[in-house]
Amino acid sequence: MSGWSHRHVLDLAAFSREDFAAVLELAHRFRSLPVTGARKLPALQGRLVASLFFEPSTRTRSSFELAAKRLSADVQSFSPSSSSLSKGESVLDTARTYVAMGADVLVVRHRSTGVPEQLASALDQAGDRTVVLNGGDGLHSHPSQGLLDLYTLARYFDPAHPLPEVLQGKRVAIVGDILHSRVARSNLWALTACGVDVVLCGPPSLVPAAFAQFVEEPPPGQALDPVPHRGRITVERTLEQALPGADAVMTLRLQKERMGQQLLTTLNRYHQDFGLTRDRLALCGADVPVLHPGPVNRGVEMASEVLDDSAICLVEEQVRNGVPIRMALLYLMAAADSSLVSINS
Ligand code: ASP
Repeated sequence: MSGWSHRHVLDLAAFSREDFAAVLELAHRFRSLPVTGARKLPALQGRLVASLFFEPSTRTRSSFELAAKRLSADVQSFSPSSSSLSKGESVLDTARTYVAMGADVLVVRHRSTGVPEQLASALDQAGDRTVVLNGGDGLHSHPSQGLLDLYTLARYFDPAHPLPEVLQGKRVAIVGDILHSRVARSNLWALTACGVDVVLCGPPSLVPAAFAQFVEEPPPGQALDPVPHRGRITVERTLEQALPGADAVMTLRLQKERMGQQLLTTLNRYHQDFGLTRDRLALCGADVPVLHPGPVNRGVEMASEVLDDSAICLVEEQVRNGVPIRMALLYLMAAADSSLVSINS
């Protein structure tokens, strides 16, 4: 665990290959713990994790809360509709309220890009020790999802040693609404860092050609890329071009709530062109695994015959892996703050 240098976790752009390995290795240890009997580890006893979700969530929020509880942290959750936000309190003042109650970690989700980062820098300026973990902000980033997708893929290819190196040289197709997807952006940083070549597939309105250069500049705010050699990104316009040779396929929800204008004619047409069906997946030449971060628009991004086929569809596996990944993140962040925690303590 030595070498972990991230106080806050706001995106995956600044993660080195070693950072990805540290999270996956720890998550794998947590996932391997027995699922019956006493499941709690005392690592974060006496710590307070506040989950501040200013935007709806099913999986991420429950999974963070469960992860915190499995590490014996106290958990405070917040619900915007019944909070003082509705009386006009600002997001920063809301966050400060939880800091004043002693929160060690704020897990923050917000519909606007940059809110977790703004909270983190306000806390740093004020000299507060509370750390911020981004639970998804606008179009920008969803680091825990990117990490759990990475772990799910690594585990699929090598269940005994699910580490970044097993992904080196693989080809992953990401299909659909890349433009509005923070999950896609986090996956682009994570997968290319581990040597994966990524093929993005969708219409120009959802996958602008410029995404092919997404990781070519050093990550925002960094003089140098912490990853010396990344995988390549290419853009294809049809599944017939994108799927042959793919080792895995990830499809993304059409994010209607983030679409400023009508970017598609009809959902039926979208499904005809980009929906995953068994026939389409045969283009990959084998039983490739299919991932989706959820929530799924059944029959739009993928047909029910794919979604319900547990032999190839890893959606539930992604949800399962979300808990140990979030345990690992919480553990690493709390451990960076003091030497109090130990898995075996
Ligand atoms: N649950 C993911 C997110 O919060 C994906 C989605 O909503 O489509 O970004």
